[in-house]
Amino acid sequence: MPKVIEWVGVKESDIVWKYPSEEITWGDVLIVHEYEAAVFFRDGKAYDVFKAGRHVLTTANLPLLTKILSKIAGYDKVPFRASIFFISLKQFQGKFGAQGQTKELAPLKFFGSFWFRAEDPNLFVNEVVGGQGVYTTENLQNFLRGYLNEKLIDTLSQYSLADVYGKLDETSLLVKNVLFDAFSRIGLELIDLKFEGIDTTPEWRDRLFYIRTGVSAAEVLRMQTVEKTAESLSKSPGAAVGAGIAVIPPLFQQPAAPAQAMVICPKCGFQNPQTAKFCNNCGAPLQIAPGINCPKCGTLNPAGARFCINCGNQLQSINKCPQCKADVQPGARFCPNCGAKLM
Ligand SMILES: [Zn+2]
Ligand SMILES: [Zn+2]
Ligand SMILES: [Zn+2]
Repeated sequence: MPKVIEWVGVKESDIVWKYPSEEITWGDVLIVHEYEAAVFFRDGKAYDVFKAGRHVLTTANLPLLTKILSKIAGYDKVPFRASIFFISLKQFQGKFGAQGQTKELAPLKFFGSFWFRAEDPNLFVNEVVGGQGVYTTENLQNFLRGYLNEKLIDTLSQYSLADVYGKLDETSLLVKNVLFDAFSRIGLELIDLKFEGIDTTPEWRDRLFYIRTGVSAAEVLRMQTVEKTAESLSKSPGAAVGAGIAVIPPLFQQPAAPAQAMVICPKCGFQNPQTAKFCNNCGAPLQIAPGINCPKCGTLNPAGARFCINCGNQLQSINKCPQCKADVQPGARFCPNCGAKLM
């Protein structure tokens, strides 16, 4: 009495199912539903693949397996042993997530989703289901997560942190291509892959700031070593040197302005060249320094002189304009510089 071989009670999430019996009789009826494939597997190798339909099993529609079985005399009269794997051809979603590192050995944590479907059921059974003994959907999801993680760790290690962080869209497209090939090799089509999270350590996030500006990772590491050395020096007892040293990447160091003495306008604060007689901004006289007439002999003394250069008479203390701070002669009513009323 021929039996019916069929994947019954298939759930939406089911990807693979192994028919429980391995004893097959010629004449058994194999029913394959839409979006399914049935693969015959024996001694570690996949043979004939059946697509959707109702198939009465004969030597004619099992040519690959028949070739193997034909070594046994009378093989077409007695039951034979084989595993039958049912594979869903629908699209499925898987999750990935792992820790790896970039080209410059920055730690990377990442996770996301991927979408796939069985493209080559024979290859898929050979490489994964039968080949790896992954008979259940749960085991298969675990296997694929591990497989994808491993390939991702491998691939991302060839990219820099700036590539992964700054150009994730571009990078994931390149990564996707690599993984597409990896999935092809096990009979699957990788339909899509999306990173939902990618991160590194806070330390490397800081470094990324410099790396993005074009400083090499090696250079950033070197600078941080200097910084740490300076820090530990400043913390060690009695060490004054190194305290408060800020390590600035060379990129950000402004070229030192040529040393040049400037004359600050007493009126508006504008920095004028030392030779300027008048403020280039407001026109106020800059070389003020009015002399002081000695009240006794009338000799004109240099501004700031405390005693008359002629008679030695003590000159009165010099007043300063409260508004522009220019020196003004004692007794002056108005500032000769800005005109402010003094008394
Ligand atoms: Zn001025
Ligand atoms: Zn003044
Ligand atoms: Zn003034």
